[in-house]
Amino acid sequence: LSFEDFEISNPIIKAIKDLGFEEPSPIQKLTLSESLKGKDIIGQAQTGTGKTAAFAIPILEKIFIKDKSPQAIVICPTRELCIQVAEEIGKLSTHMKKLYILPIYGGQSIGRQIRALKKGVHIIIATPGRLMDHMERKTINLSGIETVVLDEADEMLDMGFRDDIEFILKQTPKNRQTLLFSATINKTITNLAKKYQNKPEILKV
Ligand code: AMP
Repeated sequence: LSFEDFEISNPIIKAIKDLGFEEPSPIQKLTLSESLKGKDIIGQAQTGTGKTAAFAIPILEKIFIKDKSPQAIVICPTRELCIQVAEEIGKLSTHMKKLYILPIYGGQSIGRQIRALKKGVHIIIATPGRLMDHMERKTINLSGIETVVLDEADEMLDMGFRDDIEFILKQTPKNRQTLLFSATINKTITNLAKKYQNKPEILKV
């Protein structure tokens, strides 16, 4: 199975080639056809397996550039992961003009984040705490969100972010696509999935 076997548009295929990815990684092979169809999935994947591209590609395929408002949100446990994910999505979208990606995490000036949000962004990569902060200040509008990614969901639950994640999910449109990635899939994860995903397929490498 090659990247060309999936419904991936040319600018993204070109970026994949630039990055030197020769073929989809196992998690990408397993999830891309479902995720590109707009389906909800639970993907079991450790870091370093290519899970970022696995969710970045379906996000990018759905972005409507002319609408400069948040359409996808990736929720990550740490600032480091936020930065890393934003960079990877940036690389995969180098041939998509005028696409704005904003990482938002604690410890960074909130004023700067608010100014960037005001200018308009398509994709937000956020830690739960700082995202909650923006939601309380009403500096972020999640009403146009079409895709939500929970990245390293088990980590976030272990860190005590369950209530925040549920609050955030409740503020996004019900017809959104929800992609959940986790290194481990236990009862807590499947319970969260039952509550917030629409008939998710569990895909394990
Ligand atoms: P991740 O698990 O998303 O952190 O990805 C780990 C590393 O693998 C990153 O440097 C990616 O750029 C790279 N990567 C992702 N997908 C592929 C692929 N299909 N082939 C080769 N490298 C990849």
